[in-house]
Amino acid sequence: MKVGMAKALMMALVLCFACHPALAQDSAASLLKRADAVRTSDPTEFAKLLGLLEERTDYASSEEKMRFKLLKSHAFLMKGQYELAVGELKEIRETAVDDELIFRAGSMLVNTYALTRQFEEGLRTLNDTLPLADKVADADIRHRGWLVAGVLYNQVGEYALGEHYSDKVAGDSPVGRSRCAAGNLKIESQMGLKRSVDEGAVQQVIEICEEQKEPLLAGLTRTYLARVWAEAGKIKSAVALLERYLPDVQKNGYPLLISEYHSVMADLKLRQGEDAAAESHAQKAVENSTRLLGSQPLVSAYRTLYEIAEHRSDSELALKRYRDYADAEKAYSNDMKSRQLAYQIVRQQILQKNQQIDLLDKQNQVLQLQSKLNQQSAQNTRLMVILLVVLVASIGYWAYKIKRVQVSLKKMAETDALTDLCNRHHFTLQAERSLAQCARSGEEAALIMFDLDHFKQINDRYGHQTGDWTLKQVGEICKAFCRRVDTVGRLGGEEFAFLMYGCDMRAAKRLAEDCRVRIAAIDSRESGHVFATTASFGVASTLASGYSLARLLSHADRMLYRAKHLGRNRVCGTDDDTVTPLHGPQLQDSTVVADQHADPSEPALAARRIERVVS
Ligand code: GH3
Ligand code: MG
Ligand code: MG
Repeated sequence: MKVGMAKALMMALVLCFACHPALAQDSAASLLKRADAVRTSDPTEFAKLLGLLEERTDYASSEEKMRFKLLKSHAFLMKGQYELAVGELKEIRETAVDDELIFRAGSMLVNTYALTRQFEEGLRTLNDTLPLADKVADADIRHRGWLVAGVLYNQVGEYALGEHYSDKVAGDSPVGRSRCAAGNLKIESQMGLKRSVDEGAVQQVIEICEEQKEPLLAGLTRTYLARVWAEAGKIKSAVALLERYLPDVQKNGYPLLISEYHSVMADLKLRQGEDAAAESHAQKAVENSTRLLGSQPLVSAYRTLYEIAEHRSDSELALKRYRDYADAEKAYSNDMKSRQLAYQIVRQQILQKNQQIDLLDKQNQVLQLQSKLNQQSAQNTRLMVILLVVLVASIGYWAYKIKRVQVSLKKMAETDALTDLCNRHHFTLQAERSLAQCARSGEEAALIMFDLDHFKQINDRYGHQTGDWTLKQVGEICKAFCRRVDTVGRLGGEEFAFLMYGCDMRAAKRLAEDCRVRIAAIDSRESGHVFATTASFGVASTLASGYSLARLLSHADRMLYRAKHLGRNRVCGTDDDTVTPLHGPQLQDSTVVADQHADPSEPALAARRIERVVS
């Protein structure tokens, strides 16, 4: 019923929406402020200021450009150029960064859509705009936005929402025209909800609107008061009220309000039985509603006209008016249905959108959890890998350490600590291996054995340390003689042996001689004493002794013994003429060999040699 009237409030809101004072800092800002101030009161000045602002847009800040657009939108709305206004307002909403400006543009856009009956668009824009209200510091701008929302909700028949927004404004200490508009909206919503309206409250709103010099809203609120009185049976007072203010309303020239006045008056006059006056008002209501086929005042006026014709028993006229009434009623009802449908469509769309957002949020949460999980498992994998690497590295490290210990133990087990040559045991193994290889390949090999002469005397005279030093020097000389394929070892005490691979007797003796010379050339001064070091050498070869190490040792030892016997510091080989034949029965046993050559003057030496060869 009040839907048509809401348009009046809507237009009033549009007209006042942009009139918020701008802060004047520079000329563009001051022009904007002036334009805002004269926007409704002086259209000519307003247009002039807009022209000036247009010239300065190049120098204006982006926020000033947006404020200029807001004023331009207002100018377009005033001229009924709704599409242009919509274009500007949309651009502000898309490009502005200031929430307050976006809120103002959004609210104006909602208003414009309502004026152009694009309710779906209006409701959608409203849904995007309302959440910004909390960010709007200026209470008046916030209130105007809420009022726009309330008016639009009433227009689509959602009076409870209309009342909700009027209460929001009322509860936020409104001032000026917002207080008047909020009161008007509240009454309109209550009437839409078919609730009883407090007469005193309506009168208070009229007073506020009068104070605020809002004749349109005061006039509209008076129609509510007239209805309240009429319902309370105070028809005369209601008629008197409307009659008193009808001239003012006509003076303001707002057709919808004029139509509303006449339609209410027509209804009341009919109830008073004043058919002629009722008819006159009803016709004036129709005249002022021509542009709105589906408006509520029109429906009411046609019904009054139809009832008057009935009273007059003019059936032909009654039928015609009934048709008009039915058409208007149908148009009005369709219009209301389409508005309610628009609300339901947008509500569903918003619900759907929110559900989609919820769904996306949930999906997002799932994805975030998934990604956390992945990160966690990647971290776990990394930790596992690190653990494995550490484990493998430590195993490797320990394996390496163990290997080194093993190698060093092996070396210790195989090496003579003093001279770093093979010890007797290892020499025996190596020499046997080499001999076996020579036997297989038919290569010759020779065994050189030597013993330092009178070594005991060195120990006795210069000390054991000097003896050790001498042994080391000899060890170094031995190493220098040895090829990779040869084997050299300290057999014990001051006795050494070489197994020379691929060497015949001649070569071996030459080497032995060479070695002897070198030992004899040891410069003992380094030890701190002056003494001579010599050695006696015995050489045996595989050609004569075969590939048995025991036999080679035995024969070489015999030759060594011979060298000692002949005066020491010399080399004796089994090929020497003086040597006892090798294949004789006495060579079969080393003990026998030793016995035979034992020098009666040196029984101890002979006994020791026998001992060593056997071991
Ligand atoms: P010959 O010419 O007859 O071989 O006389 P020799 O004194 O060399 O022989 P003998 O067998 O009587 O003495 C060997 C000495 O070698 C006895 C021992 O104290 C000494 N000897 C054995 N091993 C070592 C050692 O590792 N270091 C030192 N300094 N002396 C050692
Ligand atoms: Mg000796
Ligand atoms: Mg000896």
